[in-house]
Amino acid sequence: MSFSELGLAAELLRAVSEQGYTTPTPVQRQAIPVILKGQDVLAGAQTGTGKTAGFTLPLLHRLHSRRPAGNQRQVRALILTPTRELAAQVGESVTTYGKHLPLKSAVIFGGLSINPQIAQLRRGVDILIATPGRLLDHVAQKTVDLSRLEILVLDEADRMLDMGFIRDIRKILALLPANGREGRQNLLFSATFSDEIRQLAKGLLHDPAHIEVARHNTTIETVSQIVHPVDRVRKHELLSHLIGSQDWRQVLVFTRTKHGANKLAEQLSAGRISSAAIHGNKSQGARTKALADFKNGAVRVLVATDIAARGLDIDQLPHVVNFELPNVPEDYVHRIGRTGRAGNAGEAISLVCIDEHSFLRDIERVIKREIPKQEIEGFKPDPSIKSEPVFKQRQQRPSRSAPGGGHRRAATATPKPRGGGSANRNSRPTQRRSSV
Ligand code: AMP
Repeated sequence: MSFSELGLAAELLRAVSEQGYTTPTPVQRQAIPVILKGQDVLAGAQTGTGKTAGFTLPLLHRLHSRRPAGNQRQVRALILTPTRELAAQVGESVTTYGKHLPLKSAVIFGGLSINPQIAQLRRGVDILIATPGRLLDHVAQKTVDLSRLEILVLDEADRMLDMGFIRDIRKILALLPANGREGRQNLLFSATFSDEIRQLAKGLLHDPAHIEVARHNTTIETVSQIVHPVDRVRKHELLSHLIGSQDWRQVLVFTRTKHGANKLAEQLSAGRISSAAIHGNKSQGARTKALADFKNGAVRVLVATDIAARGLDIDQLPHVVNFELPNVPEDYVHRIGRTGRAGNAGEAISLVCIDEHSFLRDIERVIKREIPKQEIEGFKPDPSIKSEPVFKQRQQRPSRSAPGGGHRRAATATPKPRGGGSANRNSRPTQRRSSV
């Protein structure tokens, strides 16, 4: 099947072919026709599947083909994303795919001055891409008008809930014009489906088309996965060894904590492997710079926490390293989705110490396969070292300064403890996300 069979406007087909895309991905094949019809959508698709184009292309088509008379622009489509980086990337996609159409878009997120955003909104935009916290700042200042909204997209809805944005989302929904067949069209994209997501979808979507791209789809199929058993204290040394001996030029490395990300980036840099860390405590400017340096090759290793890395669009990333395994198995799938994207082969390497064996078992259960183990000569684990449960570490809530612009909205963006004071935002009661 080709893009031209999907019923998209010629201007969009031109933009798509300029991107070099020849064939729609499975999520695009399924989502584009139903969104073009105006139907609500509930889509299970993770990053790397082409989901952004899957909703952006038909959204642009509909806005263009139904544009109101007159010159006045008002916000007709709103795309909510959990993080600033994802908002910026979706904004780039909207600009890229919409470049031959006379539609205007704006990206608004926290961490940057609000005034230029206000000026941009005042000039008029058709499509707004926003993180929930900053959008509510604009609502409070009456600098955004959502009363003419035709299409709402919740992108990576599971992560928005994980980050404690549910109350912000509900507030935003309450501001929007009526739902329903002839009213607003709603599209919800999520990689996972907890009860909370289902509940949100039930209240928001009308007669939605259900789209499910196989959870472990081509993204994971094209990634070769390996575990290197190693002692915790020797992980840094082993990572340096792998980078050097295999001459890796562009490596994304995951740690569980912000502190761990900083420490590792410093250690690698001290060993002359240029590195940068990206996490929720870094300023927007520092994060943008780190990502740009990584993309252009100035920095060889980008060390990231899960939430900071969520949605990063780095084309053809060859190596992803789990310096520490995530305690939420689904995060493993998200992490390794950074490599082997859109059909390119990639490699996911996990450095696993004895304390992490239970996380590894959980991950293998979720991905329904055993990951091959390979000990590296000179780095074999010391058999006399016994496991120390990782959960003796202090449990922390998701950071209030987590990306997404909600850092100043303590009252709304901070997760409320539930069920015995747990700060768990995940569907699994026994698992908690550490500070990001
Ligand atoms: P996403 O899942 O939206 O983050 O997209 C993942 C990556 O796939 C992005 O780098 C897109 O530019 C790329 N992509 C999206 N659609 C296609 C397509 N039909 N063919 C090739 N690459 C694509």
